[in-house]
Amino acid sequence: MKNDSYIQLKKLTKRYSEGDKIRSVLDELDLSVEEGEMVVILGRSGSGKSTLLNLVSGIDKPDSGKVIIDGTDLAEMDEKHRTLFRRNNIGFVFQSYNLIPTLTAHENVLLPLKLKGTTDQKLLDKAQQFLEEVGLGDRGDSYPDRLSGGEQQRVAIARALAHEPMLILADEPTGNLDYETGRIILEMLNELVRENGRTIILATHDRDICKFADRVLELKGGKLQDVEKISEVS
Ligand code: ADP
Ligand code: MG
Repeated sequence: MKNDSYIQLKKLTKRYSEGDKIRSVLDELDLSVEEGEMVVILGRSGSGKSTLLNLVSGIDKPDSGKVIIDGTDLAEMDEKHRTLFRRNNIGFVFQSYNLIPTLTAHENVLLPLKLKGTTDQKLLDKAQQFLEEVGLGDRGDSYPDRLSGGEQQRVAIARALAHEPMLILADEPTGNLDYETGRIILEMLNELVRENGRTIILATHDRDICKFADRVLELKGGKLQDVEKISEVS
């Protein structure tokens, strides 16, 4: 068991029906990811990147195939256990940040820690520590609408990492940011993830992001194929 890859996707298939037609967005897709690896999934809009990440996180279920994370088959868990597994093991960074508007930056970061059951002072300190790590130690009391897009995404990264998940899933995390801010966010994400030996799967349509990756794959026709790493980017 321990020799198996950290993440194993086996013949993963997801179909959607459009009228009387059925379309396979993912078609017997296979992928293995090792612990500590950073994998970038490239793909055009509509190629199935979000669908894939939602299956890996267990938010969504495949029509067939397996998602095995650290030896655990998500399909064999009931809804409740899958939710708990996600809370304990996965941090998700979204394109649109998805911060809760009625909570301050600090409270947003606290949320996954609270859900995981971390207690009291330790919890407050951790949230503060992660805000400081993303350079927003002095903005904890700010509400999301007072923060720029880049700052909101930094809070979202702090939130995704605060409960110390082993696996980070990032769905177009720079998609709503200008180029320069996007690079800063990526460097930050890359550093924080690498420092702590986390595994990351990042979906994007931005080929520039590939320089951060250990491995680049392209999602096309419902399957993944290797992409030559683009090493020199202007
Ligand atoms: P990407 O994230 O790469 O842009 P998505 O995973 O969001 O792509 O979508 C892949 C395809 O699946 C698209 O054609 C989209 O319209 C379709 N799709 C996604 N979610 C649903 C759904 N809930 N019902 C029907 N079709 C969907
Ligand atoms: Mg998407």
